[in-house]
Amino acid sequence: MIETLKQGRSDTAKASDASAVRMAVEGILEAIENRGDVAVREYAAKFDGWSPEQFRLSRAEIDALVAQVPARDIEDIRFAQTQVRNFAMLQKAALQDIEVETLPGVVLGHRNIPMNSVGCYVPGGKYPLVASAHMGIVTAKVAGVKRVVAMTPPFQGRPVPAVIAAMDMSGADEIYILGGVQAIAAMAIGTETIAPVDFLVGPGNAYVAEAKRQLFGRVGIDLLAGPTETLVIADDSVDAEICATDLLGQAEHGVNSPAILLTSSRSLANATLAEIERLLTILPTGETAAKAWADYGQVILCDTEDELVSEANRIASEHVQVMTRNPDVFLERMTNYGALFLGARTNVAFGDKVIGTNHTLPTLGAARYTGGLWVGKFMKTCTFQRILTDEASAMIGEYCSRLCVLEGFHGHAEQANIRVRRFGGRNVPY
Ligand code: NAD
Repeated sequence: MIETLKQGRSDTAKASDASAVRMAVEGILEAIENRGDVAVREYAAKFDGWSPEQFRLSRAEIDALVAQVPARDIEDIRFAQTQVRNFAMLQKAALQDIEVETLPGVVLGHRNIPMNSVGCYVPGGKYPLVASAHMGIVTAKVAGVKRVVAMTPPFQGRPVPAVIAAMDMSGADEIYILGGVQAIAAMAIGTETIAPVDFLVGPGNAYVAEAKRQLFGRVGIDLLAGPTETLVIADDSVDAEICATDLLGQAEHGVNSPAILLTSSRSLANATLAEIERLLTILPTGETAAKAWADYGQVILCDTEDELVSEANRIASEHVQVMTRNPDVFLERMTNYGALFLGARTNVAFGDKVIGTNHTLPTLGAARYTGGLWVGKFMKTCTFQRILTDEASAMIGEYCSRLCVLEGFHGHAEQANIRVRRFGGRNVPY
């Protein structure tokens, strides 16, 4: 039996938040479409109090900001970027181009071609998300993208040196201090001063995710990576402190970040609820985490492993931290998740910041149809074909001609039939 011990806000309240965001984003996109840089400036000033002469940083400005970053921080950023780059390179190596003879004389293949230009959004409204620079830019560069545009908002009124250092060290070709919908719109639509890109990636708040959703089609997008979500699956092999820490560690992202405990242990559930109240009084970011926990926190109790697996697949959370006696069961049986963290030794913060897997991951149920950002998202898998012999051309042409007529496509049929006549010396009657 599945029992909900703690429930967040109603789905209706959440839907009304989403509709307000949708309308706000529509208005901003329309203004930027119609008035370009002027509108970008207005929104940067309105939402971020930011009106520099240029949004793009010059080489001298980048160097001056990077020079302010302590050597220890540079070293830590370099370590994280090396892990992200190494894993992305291994994933790229697994993405083989293929060329195979599928029938005598018939050759089919595909090539993985990197996109020409990509916009990487690095969020920074509530926290300066240094790590998002590695996740988007390093991965795009491993894929072979030539022009990588990176944008991040000012944080508390100014650029954050560590974020700029991470963007620069990642290999960004253009760095702008610009955030939110105006940044996403500038990259997707282009303005008088900003050339548009072909593809947009990166996490962000609900406004950023909605802007990407509305612009999809005009540009490609990686996925909808909105406010962070976490699901902790635990049995009584772990204690309440580690469960509560992992829930609040993600709830601190923002007031609309869901954190869910799914457990087979009633005593762990009750102890975790109590532990969360204790930790909230001492966590420096407790105010945000408390609101997120009150509105979006849930505790769900299941009797069986089957129920745990089916609930976890139903929730399709961005992050799934598994702390049970046999975590590999969830690797084998779960089908809907952004990233899995197996066992108590690892955790979501490792993945978010440093271990090497990408932290830009699907939210709001998108894990039902996509995984997270990875090097393959920056590549287009494009097919090609050739026929090596006259016999093969005539043989395929015969099938093709008849199949075209079946669909009423007489022009197509003739394209095939002319080849049967040219290369096979016969005609396909119809
Ligand atoms: P952000 O950079 O995404 O958003 C800041 C921008 O929001 C500002 O520049 C401002 O222009 C805009 N904004 C603020 N209020 C607005 C309003 N009322 N109307 C229109 N625009 C407005 O930074 P953030 O707010 O700190 O959010 C970062 C988000 O990224 C968090 O929700 C976090 O959970 C999420 N995140 C998700 C993933 C993932 O992979 N899913 C990974 C990391 C972070």
